[in-house]
Amino acid sequence: MSVIKLSKGRDSSLLRRHPWIFSGAIDSVDGEPAPGDTVTVEDSRGKTLGVAAWSPTSQIRARMWSFDTEAVIDAGFIHERLRRAIARRAGLLSATRTACRLVYAESDGFPGLIVDRYGDYLSCQFLSAGAEFWRDTIVAALAELSPCRGIYERSDVTVRKHEGLAQRQGLIHGEEPPALVQIQEQDRLFMVSIQQGHKTGYYLDQFDNRSLVQRMSAGKRVLNCFSYTGGFGIAALKGGATHVTNVDSSGPALELAGENLALNDFGPEQADLVQANVFEYLRELKNKNMSYDLIVLDPPKFAETKHQFKKAARAYKDIALQAAQLLGSGGTLVNFSCSGAIDPALFQKITADALLDAGRDGRITHYLHQAEDHPVALPFPEALYLKGLVCVLD
Ligand code: SAH
Repeated sequence: MSVIKLSKGRDSSLLRRHPWIFSGAIDSVDGEPAPGDTVTVEDSRGKTLGVAAWSPTSQIRARMWSFDTEAVIDAGFIHERLRRAIARRAGLLSATRTACRLVYAESDGFPGLIVDRYGDYLSCQFLSAGAEFWRDTIVAALAELSPCRGIYERSDVTVRKHEGLAQRQGLIHGEEPPALVQIQEQDRLFMVSIQQGHKTGYYLDQFDNRSLVQRMSAGKRVLNCFSYTGGFGIAALKGGATHVTNVDSSGPALELAGENLALNDFGPEQADLVQANVFEYLRELKNKNMSYDLIVLDPPKFAETKHQFKKAARAYKDIALQAAQLLGSGGTLVNFSCSGAIDPALFQKITADALLDAGRDGRITHYLHQAEDHPVALPFPEALYLKGLVCVLD
């Protein structure tokens, strides 16, 4: 097995069990490891720290499999890691919750692997050279550990380029999922397109937050910005909202939102579907003197990297400011950011600045984050990406 030796003073994050080894931290490589090969990791004095998956093209040159210096990375190891990840979610799936994340990458000791269950199907992404290397073993283990009709791959994402991997999508086990798979989240029903939806098909990370919005919506007029397939809108209607306006720039997402409304027995008189750019549409609504009781802002990741955080901060501030102007006294802003590069404290500051500039005061009643099937491994705080604030305005 090849051995990588870290430079002097570059092992501190690893000693805290952070799983990433950046290229700049490596002093020497003994051997010629191929992408995904298991390598032994040593500190600058030659003491073994553990084993990692090698990724020669990525800035994250290796990702730790284990800090157990005796660990052997083989089919048995992969199987056991997956078994544990799935066992951690054993209590989550039920007759009334048929979708959840089963494997969340580094947080489950499985760098680069995402596995989501949607009803009888699994949808997965292989995002690192290590996950790619073990793909067939992973698929066989998943089929055994989480019985399903089919496993579909959605590795059609640009991050694979950093790992020297081409984008890929298609069936990898069992039967092709139907064009739409129905899932249930408590009393909410959704159709999910595993083949064409965002990410692996749907935003499972907002599960608890949709339930919260449902509880807060009775009697309210709701504006659901960046609605995707209608998640928060349907939650609001289930919770007794009098009307929901769903806004998204994607035609296919709104088409599916329409199907999801019908599936939950809501008619067109209860919900609008508006195809628009939220930045412009919020201004249009203000010009029309519209007002709402509750507004959800759940935009896409505005900051892909730390370098973009200023531009992203301006975008988050802009929509929060515009939304605040559409809320009356006692109105509720549910404001999210899924940019890992924007930390919770900064997001709170952006939100507070936006409300200040809008001339509004209020209080934060809830601090929100991604659902429990997207946990944050203690040594890997980067796993926290979704943040939300519920602000009730004076
Ligand atoms: N709230 C959703 C997930 C939102 S994902 C849920 O719970 O399922 C972000 C959505 O924003 C995507 O559907 C994308 O199509 C949409 N989007 C991205 N930029 C946009 C823009 N400028 N205006 C409107 N929608 C946009």
